[in-house]
Amino acid sequence: MWAGAWERACTRRCRRARDRWYRNIDKPDRPTRDVRLAACPAPAVRWRYPMSISPSPQVVELAPGIFAYIQPDGGVMLNNAGFIASGSDLLLIDTCATEARTKALLAAAQAKTGLRPTLVVNTHHHGDHTFGNCVTNPAPIISHEYARRRILATGLAPMSLTPTVQFGDLVLAAPTITVESHAHLYVGAIEVHLLHLGVAHTAGDLVVWLPESRVLYAGDILFNGGTPFLIDGSLSTYDRVLDKIRDLDPRLIVPGHGDPAGTDLLDETWDYLRWLRRLVEEAHERGQSPLEAARAADPGPFSEWLDSERLVVNIARGLAEINGAAPAEPLDYARMFADMTALRGGPIHTLA
Ligand SMILES: [Zn+2]
Repeated sequence: MWAGAWERACTRRCRRARDRWYRNIDKPDRPTRDVRLAACPAPAVRWRYPMSISPSPQVVELAPGIFAYIQPDGGVMLNNAGFIASGSDLLLIDTCATEARTKALLAAAQAKTGLRPTLVVNTHHHGDHTFGNCVTNPAPIISHEYARRRILATGLAPMSLTPTVQFGDLVLAAPTITVESHAHLYVGAIEVHLLHLGVAHTAGDLVVWLPESRVLYAGDILFNGGTPFLIDGSLSTYDRVLDKIRDLDPRLIVPGHGDPAGTDLLDETWDYLRWLRRLVEEAHERGQSPLEAARAADPGPFSEWLDSERLVVNIARGLAEINGAAPAEPLDYARMFADMTALRGGPIHTLA
């Protein structure tokens, strides 16, 4: 309904935002050429940033002051983030994998709100959502206690898993405030709930729930168009987390990767997990290795999802749990990445 208004206001709004961006941006990041704005099909505003960000990120305003930051194609190291602005407060939800991408995220937030982050939430510990934490300094960073422990334990070492990515000048910046089950924040006039709903993508997932607008930032509990990844998670408890998300009755969901969606995304993820569970049971009965089971599987519609080689890791997770492993108990990372490479027939792919 406000799409038409957006289209009419688009050029004027974009010009104003660009001017504000030029005024506020830190000098070292000042662009060397004009910020060029591509067509702005409502509700997404497509920006082209001067820092060689490709594919171009998108900013989507989901409700007044509530934004999703989408990095196509949503594959490896191309996470979503978000920002919520009210009054003089700006809550940033996740950072990005690289210095340039996180600077582009901050520039987008500043262009839309005129603000720099006053608080950052990490939805979980993975580097695509946290490596850029240091760029947000001095904003305090909040996460689940487990996520902080993992960030401190692994540091920036996982960068070596994607050697083609130019990470830039980053240093480790761990969260300094932690949550175990839930916390309520007030970003200006906007009430924000941080909720740990159980073990799904990791043991330290936090979702960001906005009860008034019914917008949910799900982190990597949900991928839209990408394959769920259980390397640090749990197949046995994932469904319960999805149920709890459904009980919140979200209007819009920002997944950790891919476009914002409705609750259909919960159904799709549920279907994948049900199919995965059947594969795991069959592999267990037949005594197959995760790689044997993954190679024999017919992924049907799931073959079109990005990074489908994660299947071998997800089967390994399920088999470990059938054999008594606790949710999120560490798997053999080196073996998991070797199996994904074997299943894919080449190294992990990323456009980052
Ligand atoms: Zn993740």
